[in-house]
Amino acid sequence: MKATCWMGRNKVEVLDVPDPRLLNARDAVVRITSTAICGSDLHLVDGYIPTVKKGDVLGHEFMGEVVEVGPEVRNLRVGDRVVVPFPIACGNCFACEEGLYSICENSNPNAGLAEKFMGHSPAGIFGYSHMLGGFAGGQAEYARVPFADVGPIKIEDDLPDDKVLFLSDILPTGYMGAEMCDIRPGQTVAVWGAGPVGLFAVTSAHLLGAGKVICIDRFPYRLRKAEQAGAHPLNYEEVDVLEALRDLTGGRGPDACIDAVGMEAHHPTPAMYAYDRAKQAARMETERPYALREAILACRNGGVVSVIGVYGGLLDKFPMGSLMNRSLTIRTGQCHVQRYLRPLLDRIRAGEIDPSFVISHRLPLSEAPRGFEMFKHKQDECTKVVLTP
Ligand SMILES: [Zn+2]
Ligand SMILES: [Zn+2]
Repeated sequence: MKATCWMGRNKVEVLDVPDPRLLNARDAVVRITSTAICGSDLHLVDGYIPTVKKGDVLGHEFMGEVVEVGPEVRNLRVGDRVVVPFPIACGNCFACEEGLYSICENSNPNAGLAEKFMGHSPAGIFGYSHMLGGFAGGQAEYARVPFADVGPIKIEDDLPDDKVLFLSDILPTGYMGAEMCDIRPGQTVAVWGAGPVGLFAVTSAHLLGAGKVICIDRFPYRLRKAEQAGAHPLNYEEVDVLEALRDLTGGRGPDACIDAVGMEAHHPTPAMYAYDRAKQAARMETERPYALREAILACRNGGVVSVIGVYGGLLDKFPMGSLMNRSLTIRTGQCHVQRYLRPLLDRIRAGEIDPSFVISHRLPLSEAPRGFEMFKHKQDECTKVVLTP
């Protein structure tokens, strides 16, 4: 089959690789109909996530048709149409029973490697390094889905792929980012990043009762999308964000701040950006945490900082004093996608959310490398690339 492979830093190629097959009784094989490039794939391509190997198949956002099922997968049949969540979860362990699927204790066969970096291991993730399981990803014609009796959700009506594909990651991730803010009616939420996850965080904050949502980015076309999603846009290259947020909140600061940017943030102050860029390039810190630092400083006393942007390792100049002295709560996690699938599918079906508004480009799988280039360099007003095998 054809698959999108990581071939080194800034090198993505579509190659012929062996077809996946069932390895376990709880596996399924899915023929992929739609798959997407994610902002977190860029961290792999840019070389900031360790333990990626040449030839690894990328992609963790995919859906398609079941073509093979193992004997213990009793809820799926050949021919079913499914969306597959990006974290792989067993459904039976301590974490899964708590609904914390992205920290499943049984799905990462390379847990020992993750423990060295992080102390304990999170769940395995499709197409996301050997430290997180070394599973082949879904930017391909087919994928093997472990624990297929737990993760995939069946799509039984005629909703098009475009409306349900993002249940695999970015819609639940944005939703969880807003949910972690414990929004009370009328509160103000600020979201850093007007990429797809930031846009879904904006939409979700409104659904969960926010009175005002503010979105921070530097690309006018992305800020326009945030505005269409109901946010007040702030361009950090034009305004002082902390000052603007104070002005918009009667001097107090937003009740909750969501970091939907993560480890490769940009910064309007050349000196600070150069500092993080240099330390990251020298691998002395793995992150450029500017959005996170600003989210913490901006948040009102006693507020919540919700981190859904992806981080890989270590950061510095972390404003712990601000967090501690001002009674802030920080909440974070890779999304526990499985627990949001049903409620968010119901909201899509009811017409409360149409996630397809984030799509800017559709390409055949064979053009994945061009998709990565466009997405990474924000060419042609690119917000989200969907690939069709
Ligand atoms: Zn993703
Ligand atoms: Zn589990």
